[in-house]
Amino acid sequence: MVDKDWKRAFREEGEVFLNLFFPETCPVCGRPSDGRETSEKACPLCLKGLKEITGPVCIRCGRPVSSPGDFYCGECKNRGWDASASFEQGICLYPYAEVQDGLLELKYKNRREYAEFYGRAAAKRSAELIREVWKADVLIPVPVHALRKNLRGYNQAALIARVMGRELDLPVEEHILIRTKQTTAQKKLDPLERLRNLRGAFACKGDVSGLRRVVLVDDVFTTGSTVESCARVLIAAGIEQVYFVAIGIAASGDTPMTQPRN
Ligand SMILES: [Zn+2]
Ligand SMILES: [Zn+2]
Repeated sequence: MVDKDWKRAFREEGEVFLNLFFPETCPVCGRPSDGRETSEKACPLCLKGLKEITGPVCIRCGRPVSSPGDFYCGECKNRGWDASASFEQGICLYPYAEVQDGLLELKYKNRREYAEFYGRAAAKRSAELIREVWKADVLIPVPVHALRKNLRGYNQAALIARVMGRELDLPVEEHILIRTKQTTAQKKLDPLERLRNLRGAFACKGDVSGLRRVVLVDDVFTTGSTVESCARVLIAAGIEQVYFVAIGIAASGDTPMTQPRN
């Protein structure tokens, strides 16, 4: 008994010590939380105020549509994706501005633990779609180039996909789709230039014969060029249908980013 109390006290002391030097921070806003929060949970402010995309959304890419009767967003219409795209459909969880701070820290500041929050949220939101509608066989994170991965030590999309895979009891395949080209920054490019920039950037490796329907997982969806490029490569390799789940969707082109409130 005494032994146990001592151990518990020691552990609690240890946690206080750890929190002093590595304070638990909120995966959404990046601010230190009070230390009692675990990193998979957002701070109370973010839990209360975080706006999800709740629809009506584009049935292709999950971007909010400007008028509720629209099936497709302006971006998809401009690109002919209302008629056909290489990917079937996808959803996005939050307007990018809502989760930008957390996603940037997950990607660049080694806040790998944030993937727990986003992976769980993504699994919760997409569970029914993935199981009942998309009937996916596997999750595939959008790959980063090996050089970048070595430099950073991880692929943020893969971390999110692993949490989703665990929550949804689905396999995660991290080696079938690879990034073969280090692409230049996409930020200043228009959608067509992005697609051109991504030509030959991805390749399919290994045996995909057992896979028919896959879900791509990424942290951010901007113009959709990345998802489209990945889908083209996967379809060419014999995958039948490609879907995607992205955490944040950025405003893009002429489609204003509405932020639904509920
Ligand atoms: Zn927060
Ligand atoms: Zn769309």
